[in-house]
Amino acid sequence: MLELKNIKKSYTLANYTQLALNDISLKFRKNEFVAVLGQSGSGKTTLLNIIGGLDHYDSGDLIINNKSTKKFKDTDWDAYRNNCIGFIFQSYNLISHINILANVELGMTLSGVSKKERRQKAIEVLKKVGLENHINKKPNQLSGGQMQRVAIARALVNNPDIILADEPTGALDSKTSVQIMELIKEIAKDKLVIMVTHNSELAHDYANRIIELKDGNIISDTNKLEKQNNNKTYTIKKTAMSFLTALSLSFNNIKTKKGRTLLTAFASSIGIIGISIILSLSNGFDMQIDQFEKDTLSSFPITISRQTTEMSPEDMMSMTPDKSDSYIDEEVIYPYDTASSMLIHKNVFTDDYLNYINNINPDYTIGVSYLRTMSLNMLIKNDDKINYVNNLSLSSLPKELKESEETFLESAYDLLKGSYPKDKAEIVVAVNEKNRLEKNILEALGIDTSKEEISFDELIGKEIKIILNDDFYKNNNDYFVPNMNYDEMYDEGITLKIVGIVRGKEDNMLAQIVNAMSMSQGAGNILYSNELAEYIIEQNKDSLIVKAQQDLDYNILTGEKFTENYTKDDMLAYLGAKDIPYIINIYPVDFEAKENIISYLNDYNKDKSDEDKIVYTDLADTFSTLSSNIMDAIGWVLIAFSGISLIVSSIMIGIITYISVLERTKEIGILRSLGARKKDVSRVFNAETFIIGLASGLIGIIIARLLLFPINAILKDLTNLDNVAIMNPIHTLILITVAIILTLIGGLIPAVIASRKNPVEALRTE
Ligand code: ADP
Ligand code: MG
Repeated sequence: MLELKNIKKSYTLANYTQLALNDISLKFRKNEFVAVLGQSGSGKTTLLNIIGGLDHYDSGDLIINNKSTKKFKDTDWDAYRNNCIGFIFQSYNLISHINILANVELGMTLSGVSKKERRQKAIEVLKKVGLENHINKKPNQLSGGQMQRVAIARALVNNPDIILADEPTGALDSKTSVQIMELIKEIAKDKLVIMVTHNSELAHDYANRIIELKDGNIISDTNKLEKQNNNKTYTIKKTAMSFLTALSLSFNNIKTKKGRTLLTAFASSIGIIGISIILSLSNGFDMQIDQFEKDTLSSFPITISRQTTEMSPEDMMSMTPDKSDSYIDEEVIYPYDTASSMLIHKNVFTDDYLNYINNINPDYTIGVSYLRTMSLNMLIKNDDKINYVNNLSLSSLPKELKESEETFLESAYDLLKGSYPKDKAEIVVAVNEKNRLEKNILEALGIDTSKEEISFDELIGKEIKIILNDDFYKNNNDYFVPNMNYDEMYDEGITLKIVGIVRGKEDNMLAQIVNAMSMSQGAGNILYSNELAEYIIEQNKDSLIVKAQQDLDYNILTGEKFTENYTKDDMLAYLGAKDIPYIINIYPVDFEAKENIISYLNDYNKDKSDEDKIVYTDLADTFSTLSSNIMDAIGWVLIAFSGISLIVSSIMIGIITYISVLERTKEIGILRSLGARKKDVSRVFNAETFIIGLASGLIGIIIARLLLFPINAILKDLTNLDNVAIMNPIHTLILITVAIILTLIGGLIPAVIASRKNPVEALRTE
């Protein structure tokens, strides 16, 4: 059944070749107990290893069941070892971190025997060697004789045809040796047992054939087989270790070095912690922006101006000055038109469009404000002296599209004194948060501004007269001049009365925006209703000066020709004859309403030519895009740094795995002797790095999660925002995967080194 034909084997050292086997030819019976005797160094172990397929011959042939092994590939040898051979070593070679049962099962695990069958067979064979009461012990809890029994059980369990024992009693006392020999003799009843020993007494007592080796040559054979009569053919099942087996093997190994594994996993989790925190921050920041946008920025108006630049936030970013290294060194000048290089769009506000705006679903908006260029002619009487005022800036409040319990003014402004206006003739003074009001407004109202403080009462009750065009402009042949008779005009004017002092509510963004949007100075303002503005326009539309201006192509007041910059329409708007604003601000109720308004505005542009399109700007959108872009940029830099720490940690994993490979060299040899493929060995180490990677990912995520508590507390202190950093579950999964992949990569080279280890040498290491 087994035949060696002219086997030669030598080992080449640095400058010297050692012949271990010199032209060995041997035939074995299917069932015999062969003892191989010989002095140390005579080639006994080499012979056994070659028969067992653990080592390979240089020349000659090994014939198994009539099949030459000359063309065997690595996997064929692995399958051969697993199926046909049982090894018993002098030093037992058990895997120390798994129990007796698992040690015995290992060979079957490799060949994919089911767990139940494995267990049953292992227990059966352990009973046979008298160890059924020790199956859950670890090898180091047994005596030498017991360990060798485990090794015998392991060799037998797959029911191989050949048992190879290399000095099985070499480490045992004589009494135990006899017990072991009895056991081996028992096995030899129905198997081929080849046992190496240098104890010729034992050999003669137990073996039925003794082969003696000397310097790699057979010098005697007591029961030589001349003719092989075997017609068995060679077929065997290949082995393959499942990843799960590799995992459990590595898991058990890792359990023996918990501290180190934990430290390694922790060290390599630092990168994960960093990235995870950054991602949480940017994720949370985005969510905050979203929320902020919904809460506050949503009240930012959608602005539609007569002239608008079509600029994306990216464009605005790119407008920051170029770096100095791009300065050019030429003595020429390049003409450049800034205006034309920015895309300027002229929005033409037709009556149709203004109607469209008026028809916005009232539920969506708080109001629509119109900034107009209409000049208001005002007279103010102080101490019986009437003064003409034309530089006093008044601001029109937004037009409310819907009747509601609270007017815009009431919702956005606190009343400090007096009352809110009840009709269009009543106006209010809005002071800023420090109760300031522009000096020129106060002076125009006839208030002595040399005083440090002015009481609210001095303002309340003050009257301003608005003079309509027909009273204000007198026709003088071809041109119009202002009427200088103030007394007459004062009596004809529309009386506006200051009825209250108000101030934008502290938390009301809208009030602040209205102040900022109106052309007024920063410090306070006089507010009037949109209704008043519309009433004045209605009155002035048919005034004489307007009618006269409509027929002329020069400015009726100055005699100047109109230009592209100042058109007749502009003049008519100035005279209050046109209700065409130059800026429209639409104030949405909330975030959803804003979306609805935007889609309503987009609908208008459908099917319109580019020229007729009305372009709007959403200031809030610009803000939030800008800020999250900045956050993204910072985030990427930090992620790059953490990424480096991840790479460093995967190199570290490589080193640690390499150390583990060195430590587990013996285990590699044992696995190979049991028929594990190279692939299976690398799988064992990949399983180990997988576990470390998974642990480091989990540790990283957990630590990062814990760190978010203090981080959020600090951010709450700084920004008053709750829970800024929030983990995204998808990021968490991705990061754990990244940790596993990186550690796997780090451990790959050591795993390959492990799988390439020579099994014979691996077994010899301690
Ligand atoms: P035995 O088991 O009879 O003591 P071995 O088969 O182990 O002898 O060794 C036979 C010869 O081959 C010895 O001279 C030994 O030094 C040499 N030898 C065995 N294995 C190696 C090896 N891996 N590298 C170099 N020389 C070896
Ligand atoms: Mg030896």
